[in-house]
Amino acid sequence: MRKLGHWISNTAHAPQGGRWLDVFDPNTGQAHAQVARGDAADLESAIAAASEAFPAWSTLRNSQRAAWLEKLAAALESRIDDFARAESLDGGKPFALARDAEIPRAVSNLRFFAHAATQFASESHHGEAGLNYTLRAPLGVVAAISPWNLPLYLLTWKIAPALAAGNTVVAKPSEATPLTATMLGELAAEIGLPKGVLNIVHGLGPEIGEALVMHAQVKAISFTGSTAVGRRIAGVAAPLLKKLSLELGGKNPTLVFADSDWRGHLDTLVRSAFQNSGQICLCGSRLLVERSIYAEFRDAFVQRVRILHAGDPMADGTTLGPLVSQAHFDKVMACLRRARAEGGVVLCGGERIERAGWFVAPTVIEGLGPECATNREEIFGPVATLQAFDTDEQALMLANASDYGLAAMLWTRDLQRAHRLAAQLRAGVVWINTWLIRDLRTPFGGVGASGLGREGGVEAMRFFTETKNVCLSLE
Ligand code: NAD
Repeated sequence: MRKLGHWISNTAHAPQGGRWLDVFDPNTGQAHAQVARGDAADLESAIAAASEAFPAWSTLRNSQRAAWLEKLAAALESRIDDFARAESLDGGKPFALARDAEIPRAVSNLRFFAHAATQFASESHHGEAGLNYTLRAPLGVVAAISPWNLPLYLLTWKIAPALAAGNTVVAKPSEATPLTATMLGELAAEIGLPKGVLNIVHGLGPEIGEALVMHAQVKAISFTGSTAVGRRIAGVAAPLLKKLSLELGGKNPTLVFADSDWRGHLDTLVRSAFQNSGQICLCGSRLLVERSIYAEFRDAFVQRVRILHAGDPMADGTTLGPLVSQAHFDKVMACLRRARAEGGVVLCGGERIERAGWFVAPTVIEGLGPECATNREEIFGPVATLQAFDTDEQALMLANASDYGLAAMLWTRDLQRAHRLAAQLRAGVVWINTWLIRDLRTPFGGVGASGLGREGGVEAMRFFTETKNVCLSLE
């Protein structure tokens, strides 16, 4: 069976403690590889490599770091199919989704921040007291900790700005989907990226992940994952006064108004709830529908959801893969039982699909109000609920009835309403008449239980740098 070691200083390393974890193919439920179960000793090697690499990497010209990121992007681009296959095997996502969207987006992340390295600028302030200018210096060794749902996309979303800004990185991908991160480590070695600049360590969150957060030489932690783990990391990192970026869970509302072209966008509406089997933090899992179209919308939506094609992620035509793990499957099935116990009416799905892997049928539920756990807690599976509203105010109240605040989607042709509600929705990202289109320059992140801080564009470059003001007297 394939063994996935750490990548430290451009070399594969077996775990010093000799312990390995199984990695499963969600389509079959069978182990397809083993990954290093790293510990503090492995982490020390990675931190030492990153610390040693930092002086030379941070003093390269911006354009030289940009050239390295371009080179990595080009190497990844030439291997899109291999990476997509690996991501599909590890996470169960449809191969076509990985090949056409997620791996190309990882290439774009690397390329975008290659450009950012040469375009990043700082301010100067004149006219009040002396001549002031701002310096933004790299921090040193930084940590990137990422989840399993968009493995390479979210990892590169952190690694790229960290490297562009002149830091060296120790990255810890999810133990559930370690394959493409390992392959990225191999690719970095293949292109000859200076040793120690990018290190990948593997293992369990509470073990090597938490050790990484606490390590004295790690200056900043960029984390994407669940709200519970984000809270835990905040608790550990705060007394150590480390820089922290937390991208956490979501329970996003999709508001559908009667005046919208919802029939013309039914595919997007279904995709926005069920892409990657609902395992995207930006999926709209709470659909709020204007009462005058509720029945018609519900019937059309459910009909479209029923034709989602669940199957082997590698097969042509599969639009719905399995959930990532046995543990996550069990959690989603428990959420379905809870929805029924709360009085939810299951319009379609609501059960497992009889296949070897961890498949849950795409599910639509109605009859539950905003106070129910089903509408409050993140399920992170192929499960969407429907609620009706009568007025804009009621739609807004229902949309904001959540501790989370990551994304919100609005479907209406009324421009005034769209802009008014966009300003009032409690969310870090609002899409109007679309879903998931991304300009990498825009700020990305959530409010409340969805996290702290923003990624993307200049926000990420600022996160990965320390700011200093220099003041010169002109008198
Ligand atoms: P998770 O929080 O269980 O794990 C995320 C990462 O943190 C993994 O690499 C894990 O090993 C590590 N980890 C776990 N415990 C740790 C600890 N004590 N210290 C340090 N690291 C630790 O999340 P998951 O189940 O992998 O991912 C799903 C979650 O991620 C969902 O809640 C989803 O909404 C969220 N997510 C958010 C965004 C966003 O941009 N806001 C994007 C994708 C996913």
